[in-house]
Amino acid sequence: MKIPFNDLRRIHDPLREEFDAAWRRIVVNNAFILGREVEQFEGDFARYCKLPGKEYAAGVSNGEDALELMLRALGIGKGGEVITAANTFNATVSAIQIVGATPVLVDVNPDTYLMNMEEVKNKITSRTMAIIPVHLYGQRTPLEGICAFTEERGIYVLEDACQAHGSLRYGSPLGQSDAAAFSFYPGKNLGAFGDAGIVISRNDKLIERIKHLRNYGQSKKYHHDELGLNKRMDSLQAAILSVKLPHLDAWNECRRKSAEKLTKQLEGVGDLSLPVTLEGNTHSFHLYVVRTEKRDELQAYLSTRGIETGIHYPCPIHLQKSFASLELPRESFPIAERNAQMILSLPLFPFMKEEEIAYLAESVQGFFK
Ligand SMILES: *Cc1c(COP(=O)(O)O)cnc(C)c1O
Repeated sequence: MKIPFNDLRRIHDPLREEFDAAWRRIVVNNAFILGREVEQFEGDFARYCKLPGKEYAAGVSNGEDALELMLRALGIGKGGEVITAANTFNATVSAIQIVGATPVLVDVNPDTYLMNMEEVKNKITSRTMAIIPVHLYGQRTPLEGICAFTEERGIYVLEDACQAHGSLRYGSPLGQSDAAAFSFYPGKNLGAFGDAGIVISRNDKLIERIKHLRNYGQSKKYHHDELGLNKRMDSLQAAILSVKLPHLDAWNECRRKSAEKLTKQLEGVGDLSLPVTLEGNTHSFHLYVVRTEKRDELQAYLSTRGIETGIHYPCPIHLQKSFASLELPRESFPIAERNAQMILSLPLFPFMKEEEIAYLAESVQGFFK
């Protein structure tokens, strides 16, 4: 048997006719960037996050641009510090550097892989302008303790929700903080047919500002008020996302069910640490990540059994060449560094078959026998 890391055909095949209709609509309407389709999706996604409508969401070109525009629109840049996790995807930190601010990294909790909020408090200085919690693998970072603390000090809480579409905390959707950025990269829980992203916020002024910035800073066609950036969403991506959004919760439920089955079968196997779901969280399981001292051997073994796996991420931010300027030596974030050696993402996607889950679990058990 072969198990791919993800198989998007399983969610796309049943929707083919709707995708065709969306594409035809774009051709007939003869409009390809922003416009009606994007506004429709902005409204749909805002309401999905329990925000009133399209004034509370700005469709953009990708997840990194969503992060960058969120920072720019709030005037975060040179001289400012932004606190985030040491184990995130590159884009969280590059967005901070692109706007000219200084990334300040913190270590993570060993079992949830989420930013250690106690450590965040220790890193706050007079220059701290924002913190960016990353809801890694689809699990919400608990923010209850930090929001009162940051609000008092005028620090923004901006969520990197690029892996957490549909993830809940005490039943509450994302976007309760100052703003949240999402990616619709094809492999995310909600993915486009190419690159796309969105920012949501309860602050409609912030969203208005992002809509201005994403389109060359134009208030009127060919009248540019400030530095021009092209970070617009394509109409086609919006139309595709509008077709897929109504299915997101069912797909996430599918992921949770499969995760539950895997966890049941992998409990107590070898030295494996399995995903931990924090109390109050409805995990969206973008990734199912386990931890073992024998990570490389397990990965190689599963590969011989036809099972594709991934490592998210093999190298923490401060040890990446591209962030050498941060001058943070090895051992700066011991938990993130140690986890990077031990983590393995097993295949987990909507409509995984019972036989596939069983084969995956047996294969992992087989390795440790
Ligand atoms: C995917 C991702 C991004 C970036 O999204 P792109 O659309 O690829 O630019 C940012 N942060 C995290 C945590 C991600 O997983």
